[in-house]
Amino acid sequence: MRPDLSPETLVVAVGRPAKEPDAPVNVPVVLSSTFHAGGPIAYARTSNPTWEALEEVVGALEGGRALAFSSGMGAVSAVLDLVPNGGTVVVSSHSYSGVAARLRDLEADGRVRVRLVPVQDAASVAESCTGADLLWIETPTNPAMEVCDLAAVAAAARELGVLTVCDNTFAGPMLQRPIEHGVDVVVHSATKSLAGHSDVLLGIVVTTDDDYHQRLLRARTLVGSIPGPFEAYLALRGIRTLALRVKQSQASALELATRLSAHPAVTSVRYPGLPDDPGHEIAKRQMDGFGAIVAFETVGDADAAEAFCDRTELITHATSLGGVETLMERRRRWPEERPDVPETLIRLSVGIEDVEDLWADLSQALDGLL
Ligand SMILES: *Cc1c(COP(=O)(O)O)cnc(C)c1O
Repeated sequence: MRPDLSPETLVVAVGRPAKEPDAPVNVPVVLSSTFHAGGPIAYARTSNPTWEALEEVVGALEGGRALAFSSGMGAVSAVLDLVPNGGTVVVSSHSYSGVAARLRDLEADGRVRVRLVPVQDAASVAESCTGADLLWIETPTNPAMEVCDLAAVAAAARELGVLTVCDNTFAGPMLQRPIEHGVDVVVHSATKSLAGHSDVLLGIVVTTDDDYHQRLLRARTLVGSIPGPFEAYLALRGIRTLALRVKQSQASALELATRLSAHPAVTSVRYPGLPDDPGHEIAKRQMDGFGAIVAFETVGDADAAEAFCDRTELITHATSLGGVETLMERRRRWPEERPDVPETLIRLSVGIEDVEDLWADLSQALDGLL
């Protein structure tokens, strides 16, 4: 495929069978645990043609070689396994709760040391990288929506010989391609916007480094955290409309963030697309759009915020994000969530419904807080 094609084209065109008479247009779901001898796959724990098509698309979008895993956490764990025994991981103080919890467990076992950094402060991140082995970045962060200057921290980490990883789940490759900013490894929970329909769990790792690619492939094969072919097919099918979904969702997210900012039941809004958001300038520089996730705090206590989440009719009160349907939840309902995330912080994942219908639902539920 031509490398100069835009992401909007790549999502549609890559990962297709060869254009031969009567060849299928879509890659089939290949259900076979073993393959005729003599080829590179041989056994289905190594690879599968349906995953390979998915890997081709995400690799083309992110600018590296992709490997699909059974879940986002499967991908995360494979990357954390690259850290040598006793090594140090520098990680954004706000990051996906599963990543934070896994790092706490690894630290408790004496496997790694962990340093938490405010990821929006590039100088402080750079300082913390001295003597570290791996820098784990999320931007925008989950759920606080802080923005990290990827080029600045990747350059500082590179100088110190620290491997840089970016969990790009929130922004996604339509809007942010960390490898272009000097990041070594990109991780996705493809469960979210890549697959986009809240019907599969999948993870992806992308890197330009052949050695890391080989180590991750070997780890996936031997640990066995492989995706199912049907899940890979669904994710690939979802990716075909990624560009359209992202366009619609983020336009609505900006509109809702703006209206939320003006609502008397809302005490704060974080969305990098708002001109007065602390992350706006950096986001404008390194992203092609501001994404579909909005974080806001409501008046009242945790119980009131929880009741607010139950009052919406169209918007679904559920965890996760990046689907076609709008979801929201109070993040602190999870015991794993960090205690410095405000009790009433609501994470809103904006889907592709009509924005006026979404606002009508949101505003009636907010009015109940007053
Ligand atoms: C959901 C999520 C993960 C974990 O992915 P799973 O597919 O649920 O295992 C990792 N990072 C971020 C940012 C996520 O939102």
